[in-house]
Amino acid sequence: MPDENQGLMATPARAPILQPDGRFENWSGRVEARPTRLEQPTSLAELQQAVRSHSGNIRVVGTGHSCTPLCATDGLLINLDRDCGVVAVDLDKRRATIRAGSKIHDLGPSLRAHGLALHNQGDVDVQSMAGAVSTGTHGTGPTLGSLSTAVRRIEMVLANGDTFSCSPEVEAEVFRCARVSLGALGVIHELELELVPAYNLHEREWKADVAQADHFLETAKQTRHLEFFWSPPRDVLYVKSLDPTDAEPDPMPDNPRECIGPSFEVFPSIREERFNEMEYAVPAERGVECFREVREVMLARYPDVMWPVEVRTLAADDIPLSPAFERETVTISVHQAAELPCDALFADTQAVFANHGGRPHWGKFHDLDAKTLAPLYPEWEAFARVRERLDPEGRFASDYLRRLLGS
Ligand SMILES: Cc1cc2nc3c(=O)[nH]c(=O)nc-3n(C[C@H](O)[C@H](O)[C@H](O)COP(=O)(O)OP(=O)(O)OC[C@H]3O[C@@H](n4cnc5c(N)ncnc54)[C@H](O)[C@@H]3O)c2cc1C
Repeated sequence: MPDENQGLMATPARAPILQPDGRFENWSGRVEARPTRLEQPTSLAELQQAVRSHSGNIRVVGTGHSCTPLCATDGLLINLDRDCGVVAVDLDKRRATIRAGSKIHDLGPSLRAHGLALHNQGDVDVQSMAGAVSTGTHGTGPTLGSLSTAVRRIEMVLANGDTFSCSPEVEAEVFRCARVSLGALGVIHELELELVPAYNLHEREWKADVAQADHFLETAKQTRHLEFFWSPPRDVLYVKSLDPTDAEPDPMPDNPRECIGPSFEVFPSIREERFNEMEYAVPAERGVECFREVREVMLARYPDVMWPVEVRTLAADDIPLSPAFERETVTISVHQAAELPCDALFADTQAVFANHGGRPHWGKFHDLDAKTLAPLYPEWEAFARVRERLDPEGRFASDYLRRLLGS
């Protein structure tokens, strides 16, 4: 690995993790908790010390963008905002080792400087890489896996403060599970990522008749990244495609629905208005039918919801707790403004997803528990075994994690 420590950021300014009164609040404001203490270590040694010096439960928070209480704790809350950056780059292998707390938006320019980029990104880029990986965060593209699938090595700090490294070659079973691990195994300190050559993207957006949704899977195969948005009041599709291009960056100010730029600039949208979101991953072949049923439910019962339903594709992977585990996937998400009631909307659409074998996004609203989740994941027990081995005393557990994982 050449370029040791290149791009390492010491103490970047970040939004505070806790409110002035000491509360933790997630991005949408739906989740609240009161940790006894917040630790923001600046190095591996400080992280180990933080873990060793606390005898109770520990949770880790990245950017706090998850809608579910994954980061809620009344124990120690750890955040790695002060230990970020690219540690090393291997150009031959197209890999980079990064501090896990690095924000996705900081990685873009740092990796571009080495001629590299993430293979895909989601709607926003404010998440920490560890937080995004830990919940299986994804973009769109039928051949493209979630960000978790780019991980090639994980270094974490376990409950006793020791470091633990895993990869496909070393501790392979732990590695398989640790790529989507909800902060339940340890504190991820470093990630080695497999990258692709830096690329520009050409973004286009257009309106289409809702009947075009029937051809979503075929159309998605003709484009690297295709998705559509739909909401009841308009009942049309807003389709967005992103395709790699050799053309030079061009903001195309005369056409706000089109632009060309470096991938890391084109992928993210700015989401300033807060919302709550539920997303389910359904088998790809059921995606269109599932969307049609969600549309029927929303037209009949929630005709005024302005926030769009978002439909994307996701490649299958082999990660036991990944919503795309061993199946080509269509993801469908339902949003509602943070200040408006969403429980009935989410309950009614969740029932549709359940009928299609949907698996919930771990970072977005759902009300499933271990009893309902386990049958959806053929390798549920594999994760449980790894968790039992790495965290036998449940130091990284919380009430919510126990509900989710069953112990
Ligand atoms: C506006 C918005 C847009 C979004 N867009 C997308 C999208 O396009 N695609 C998609 O799939 N999802 C999307 N999400 C969901 C989001 O990507 C996930 O919830 C993600 O986990 C948030 O990252 P975070 O850094 O905020 O993690 P947090 O919410 O802070 O944490 C998530 C999980 O990761 C764990 N964790 C964090 N850091 C570590 C660490 N160092 N070690 C171990 N565990 C850790 C936490 O304990 C928790 O279990 C979006 C969410 C919002 C609010």
